[in-house]
Amino acid sequence: MAKIYYESDANLELIKDKTIGIIGFGSQGHAHALNLRDSGCNVMVGLYPGSKSWQQAQQAGVRVGTVEEVAREADIIMVLAPDQVQKQLYVDAIEPGLRAGKMLMFAHGFNIHFNQIVPPQDVDVTMIAPKAPGHRMREMFANGIGVPALIAVHQNASENAHQLALAYGKGVGCAKAGIIETTFAEETETDLFGEQTVLCGGVTSLVKTAFETLVGAGYQPEIAYFECMHELKLLVDMMHEGGMNAMRYTISDTAEYGDYTRGPRVIDDHVRQQMKQILNNIRSGAFAREWIIENQAGQPSFLALRRQNQEHMIERVGAELRAMMPWLQKKDTAPGAAQPATPMPSAEPGVRSVTEPFAPREERSAFEMPPRSPTDAFSARPPASSDDSGDAFASPPAESSDDGFTRRSDQESM
Ligand code: NAP
Ligand code: MG
Repeated sequence: MAKIYYESDANLELIKDKTIGIIGFGSQGHAHALNLRDSGCNVMVGLYPGSKSWQQAQQAGVRVGTVEEVAREADIIMVLAPDQVQKQLYVDAIEPGLRAGKMLMFAHGFNIHFNQIVPPQDVDVTMIAPKAPGHRMREMFANGIGVPALIAVHQNASENAHQLALAYGKGVGCAKAGIIETTFAEETETDLFGEQTVLCGGVTSLVKTAFETLVGAGYQPEIAYFECMHELKLLVDMMHEGGMNAMRYTISDTAEYGDYTRGPRVIDDHVRQQMKQILNNIRSGAFAREWIIENQAGQPSFLALRRQNQEHMIERVGAELRAMMPWLQKKDTAPGAAQPATPMPSAEPGVRSVTEPFAPREERSAFEMPPRSPTDAFSARPPASSDDSGDAFASPPAESSDDGFTRRSDQESM
């Protein structure tokens, strides 16, 4: 079983006399900075000049500086900029400020584990990775509850790195819920595997394939949408709250029998083999190399795939059906629409304009359709208040206004 640390295992005094620099003030950044501040720590936020969050951080009452300034001044530097900009940011602005005895921290292991960032030997390198979106983390902290987190030590130059990281974890509130011991390798590899095979890739492919099967057999897309996509949330919510048992307690015996007998036929040995290969790809670094090169090339495949998926019939039908359910309206946004502007042109694709041409007809499968108008669900919209009420990953509106925040929904995946 995993080793788990709680409040009594962590000593906040270890970091009380240190300056903690939080790089970035997005989903994770604002939660870490404000929670640590409220725990009595000395916090600075590092941003790039022109960041839309600069003023928000100041208004929230924390000291803000450039990343260089913060890296130079802070004893503990937590890197909470987007993963794909961290390498360049580290080389340009963070590394010059590192000195022996400082601690460099991350909330996700990708850049350390895949050697994109190689810190000097005389600094501690640790991870506190909260297992919740930043807005949930901040909301829970305000309510006196913590969200769980992972802790890992990559370099222990001070021979006190674990205790220091644990103190940080307590400062952001996570020791209230429990901080689970892991390694950079385990966190990174399982995170990628989970999002590829289940959370993001697995689920969307399953839903899309089932939808296409029904529509291909002549059923109405609207009915297929409800059966294969809409109802998923109800079942996932039950699994989230009470496990598969709770979900199966609620469904009919017919559904439960179909679950046991047909599920394993869909997710069969072939899928198991594919999952093993995907895991091997992650562990060998092949996926990381592919994604890093893709970013260096300006994301040509990624953006093409994003566009093709945005044009799939299930999105079009879904937008029409969700219009019948006004409580779902605010979720109609598309990936890329609300990504934070960043000063690193090579790493960020920017927002696809609604006037951009879509793929020529012949490139589309039978399930792809162009959007009808710039106002429908495919439109790239500016970051709107992400009121995902009722969603497990909701950013609470109260919290948003609290910190002068208006931003996209949280994403746990990179
Ligand atoms: P995010 O919401 O996109 O926020 C990134 C922040 O970094 C923004 O404030 C952004 O500025 C700033 N930034 C962007 N480029 C920068 C640059 N070149 N220099 C300085 N600041 C820059 O990112 P996030 O989701 O919080 O993710 C941060 C880290 O936490 C990642 O390692 C991620 O894997 C990890 N993580 C995230 C979650 C989650 O719930 N989102 C959960 C666990 C771990 P602007 O405000 O101007 O855009
Ligand atoms: Mg993830």
